[in-house]
Amino acid sequence: MVSKKFKIKRFDPEKDIPGGKPRWEEFTVEMDPFERLLDGLVRIKEAQDGSLTFRLSCAHGMCGSCAMKINGKNALACQTLAKNTPEAVVLEPLPVFPVIKDLVVDMDPFFEKIGAVMPWLVADGPHPERERSQSPEELGKIMDAIKCIMCGCCTSSCPVYRADRDYLGPAALVKAARFILDSRDATWKERLKAVSGENGFWMCHSIYNCYEVCPRSIDITGYIAWLKRLAVKKMFFPPKGQR
Ligand code: SF4
Repeated sequence: MVSKKFKIKRFDPEKDIPGGKPRWEEFTVEMDPFERLLDGLVRIKEAQDGSLTFRLSCAHGMCGSCAMKINGKNALACQTLAKNTPEAVVLEPLPVFPVIKDLVVDMDPFFEKIGAVMPWLVADGPHPERERSQSPEELGKIMDAIKCIMCGCCTSSCPVYRADRDYLGPAALVKAARFILDSRDATWKERLKAVSGENGFWMCHSIYNCYEVCPRSIDITGYIAWLKRLAVKKMFFPPKGQR
């Protein structure tokens, strides 16, 4: 067992002034080195402070709920083993998004961007008798992008999004690329037009923060570069001022 110190940035809307300085609180937990930080948080809540607030759902890296800033880098608490962290772990809510309480942030701005790129299939032609099938090669083109669990780690770590909240952000752009590449989708032109506007992929500076924090190892910057190349090929040039 190892003794792990958790230093947690806390904010309680009922006690703290909105926008005021957050409080830092420390807790010590005895942990098996192979336990995840999420296990430590659960133990703090159960045995030390029931008011500590964080999100969790699947606890297996499939839902993205426990995304937070861990020792300065966005990650999932359920994927971070105690043995891979220093003796003192610093936990903060995901940056950029408004804090609701402690480690819980308001994800509405993130999901609004996802919604703006029409994250659903738009197929043409009559309904098939069974499913709309794809070949393994066609599926292979979107396989990486469909691994996205919409945790928000990428958009929250993007300096361009931090500077301009109108930017669609990396997660929404990956979602757009995923449907443009989908052999069953019939709306690539509308989709490309929607994401090549002034708040779209031309704002990306290829900084790679998104790629580095993605818990699913999705080549986010690669997808955005692919969108740019496709736009040039199809003559969807950057809006004036971004050329
Ligand atoms: Fe999370 Fe990766 Fe999806 Fe971004 S692309 S929302 S980091 S899973």
